[in-house]
Amino acid sequence: MRKRIVAGNWKMNKTFTEAESLLFDIAELLSDRDDTNVEVVVCPPSLYLELASDIAKQNGFKCGAQNCSQYNPGAYTGEISAEMLQSAGVQYVILGHSERRSYFGEKDDVLALKVDKALMNELTPIYCCGEVLKEREGNSHFAVVEEQIKKALFHLKNDEITKLVIAYEPVWAIGTGRTATPAQAQEMHAHIRKVIADKYGVDTANSISILYGGSCNPGNAAELFAQPDVDGGLIGGASLKADDFVKIINSFGK
Ligand code: PEP
Repeated sequence: MRKRIVAGNWKMNKTFTEAESLLFDIAELLSDRDDTNVEVVVCPPSLYLELASDIAKQNGFKCGAQNCSQYNPGAYTGEISAEMLQSAGVQYVILGHSERRSYFGEKDDVLALKVDKALMNELTPIYCCGEVLKEREGNSHFAVVEEQIKKALFHLKNDEITKLVIAYEPVWAIGTGRTATPAQAQEMHAHIRKVIADKYGVDTANSISILYGGSCNPGNAAELFAQPDVDGGLIGGASLKADDFVKIINSFGK
């Protein structure tokens, strides 16, 4: 059975003290959560990863980074390597988030290298894909997402792609309060699974967790997570409040 996962992407938010209390609040609320079979991942800014991974380890959740370098350790000022993340106890890394693509010019070829570095260092990539509004309105959303998957991931071998998590995040839904309908999410998740199945086989495609991201909140998570191909969520804004984040985690089966 595929893993059900809820990951929180804090983006560039929280001071050190705020980060510490949010981590402890999440840990406390998780201590009596409904279903311990959901993998919880918290992805704070890199400065807080070591702290987060310690608290995560003691409280049954996982810690993820929001990016990693495509390079091996060396003279790359300001960068953080996958090896460094692993050494700090990090288990996941978000790659290809639409904000990285649009503000930092990350393209699929560079993302393919980042995916490789993550896998080489035993990090689970959460590979993000998704179309902008114009592409959806122009009905090219399936083709756009398909290309993002093929270009960044299709060099992987079968036993490598199974180590990945994919997050479908329609860009028009990120931070806008405008969520994809459960039907729109299901339709795209099923399409992603089919694209993977066509190259790697149905069993491989069925083993990969595909998360939905984009204005997911405690009010809409249950319906989204009830879709057969939606295996959880990548949560931005709502992951900054412990209550909301844990309510989303508790939304499976509701
Ligand atoms: C995100 O940035 O990954 C995200 C899903 O953000 P939000 O939940 O705020 O739309």
